[in-house]
Amino acid sequence: MTYPINSSTLSYQNLTLSNVSAPAKIDSTGNSVTPVTLDTSSNDSFVQNVIQSLGNLGLNTSDVSTNESLQVFVQDLSKALMQGDPQPLPINAAADIPVAPNTMPDPTETKFSGGTNFQYSVDLSQANLGDNFANVASNIKTALDNIGQFISSKVIFDLKVVTVSINSGTLAQANAALVTTTTPNPNNPVNPTKSTNTSFISDSIQGVDSSPNSPDSTLYINLANMDKMSFSGTPTPNKYDLTTILTHEILHGLAFAGTLTVNSPLPTAYDALISPQQPPTPQNTPVFFVGRHAEAVNDGNPVPLSPESSGAGSAYYHVAVPSDLMSESINKGEVKSISALDVAMLEDIGVTLTGVSAPPSKVQTAYSNPMANLQNLMNSLDNGTEQNNALQADFSTLVTSLGGSASSGNLQDFLAQLSSNAVNGNSLQNDSGSIFSATA
Ligand SMILES: [Zn+2]
Repeated sequence: MTYPINSSTLSYQNLTLSNVSAPAKIDSTGNSVTPVTLDTSSNDSFVQNVIQSLGNLGLNTSDVSTNESLQVFVQDLSKALMQGDPQPLPINAAADIPVAPNTMPDPTETKFSGGTNFQYSVDLSQANLGDNFANVASNIKTALDNIGQFISSKVIFDLKVVTVSINSGTLAQANAALVTTTTPNPNNPVNPTKSTNTSFISDSIQGVDSSPNSPDSTLYINLANMDKMSFSGTPTPNKYDLTTILTHEILHGLAFAGTLTVNSPLPTAYDALISPQQPPTPQNTPVFFVGRHAEAVNDGNPVPLSPESSGAGSAYYHVAVPSDLMSESINKGEVKSISALDVAMLEDIGVTLTGVSAPPSKVQTAYSNPMANLQNLMNSLDNGTEQNNALQADFSTLVTSLGGSASSGNLQDFLAQLSSNAVNGNSLQNDSGSIFSATA
């Protein structure tokens, strides 16, 4: 006699990269402005360049040390030039031209596999990617091959990719098939169910695929945000880097996942290294990853994780190290790659490493070149964005405060002057790294 077997797979969703808004604006508008003082007496080359440029337009800059309009303008301008506020794409956005999918044998093929020491199989048959198919598939392959630099596995990693369309800040999500609960003996009221660890890590350690007919991880790509993605793999102004996002998500599906916040009898290897083990109270209590390899990379200290207050799916399974690939957010224009910290955590979790060294946690940004950002700003000044309109209004107020009029020049003239001065050796960078000092 056989009993019917009811099986259900528990998938624990990791909502990831959810804080995808532009870099936080702390003071551009509104009443909660932190008072700042512009130190015009310093030898700050950026501020001096601004003042000199205003003077070159014929404005009276003999005493600007207490000019609040100048403070506001310099503050907003410096954000546009140095701090990564997203600017509209420049006209010649060569970096964002989609990469030719030369690594994909056939763009109509909806399944592919690859890897050597870390073999993978990808199923895109239920992904509705349209014209983006080849680019997304190529980026997935790049992400998996990047991971394969650092890890080895005896079993194949099965990844299923699906698309969703949700109006939210979420770029992508990943599920990991961690625990499968079956009902082998429904007539036994004492112990009717049996839970099995079906995670990829468990399979990999044992060398047997415990669930060969289901994916190890399902990757959800949010089509609603596809137009905000860059496929180039290089920092691109005003775009989120899809390769970064996919690498982050696949690492969730692979190892950065667990059951701490759900009622499961089987914690993951990652869970076992979280301290404290219970969801703490209050919710913002610090939580750490305490694997010894990760601590060694982190100067001997436990690695801070996103606390309970980050919310279900984000808490615990992200590192609270903003520059790291496995932190919970990414900004436009940024590219992150697998770090030594990530690799050390994988080692602690039980993943077999290849021995290839990874670099420290680092963010590459499209906004590190203020001269290029100035050119972008000049190209896009009249495009009607809120930020650019605000900057124009700031400038008009500044001109008036300096005794000028509309004929004293417009913002475009000022920026051209600033650029010209920069070419002549007046930097667009500040000396100290901060051009403001907060007043107590
Ligand atoms: Zn995440």
